[in-house]
Formats: sequence, structure tokens, C-alpha cells
Amino acid sequence: MNTFPKTVREFIEAGRQVIQECEACRRKAPMDLSMLELVFGSSFDLYASMREMRDRLSCPACGHPRPLIEFHNPTATHFRDVSFDESVTSALEFNAYNRARKAS
Ligand SMILES: [Zn+2]
Repeated sequence: MNTFPKTVREFIEAGRQVIQECEACRRKAPMDLSMLELVFGSSFDLYASMREMRDRLSCPACGHPRPLIEFHNPTATHFRDVSFDESVTSALEFNAYNRARKAS
């Protein structure tokens, strides 16, 4: 099964990071995923609902609305070091991320 984490709970379990970047003051920092879970719920789909998430967030430093959202996998290994299934999954994950970014 080529699945990758999509919900807040799955992000927490897989150790994914959600990076918030402000377009006004350029503050860039990982978000507290337990806060995201409290605000949006554990089954909130971070890909399908990236626009909704951006609409509700603002920069903690300067208050500028709609920060850029980046997903980060700190455990990602080099392409050649992973199995075919893993590389297909990470390609799917990357494509889903690009689609979500465009839609948000
Ligand atoms: Zn800011």
C-alpha cells in the first residue's frame, strides 16, 4: 500500500513536521502539531484542507494572515537508499503536496 500521512494524527505518528512561513516578516518555524490537533481535530486532512488551514492561521510574530505551509519529513532518506515501494510512496506524497500548495 502506497500510503503516506495525511491527517494531523498521522503526521504526529510519522514524525512529519509542518513548517509555517510568514510572507511579511519571513519568520519560519515548525508548528506545534498538538496545537493543530486541538484546533482542527486529529482526523483533519492536511492535504485536502490546506486552504482552510491557511485561512485560519496567522503569523505568531507579526500577525500577517495566511502563512505559507510546508511539509517536512526529517527522516527522509536518499532516493537510492529506499525500496521501490517507498520511493513510489514518497513521489505520491510529493505530488499531493504540490497539488495542495497550488489549491491553497
Ligand atoms: Zn510575520
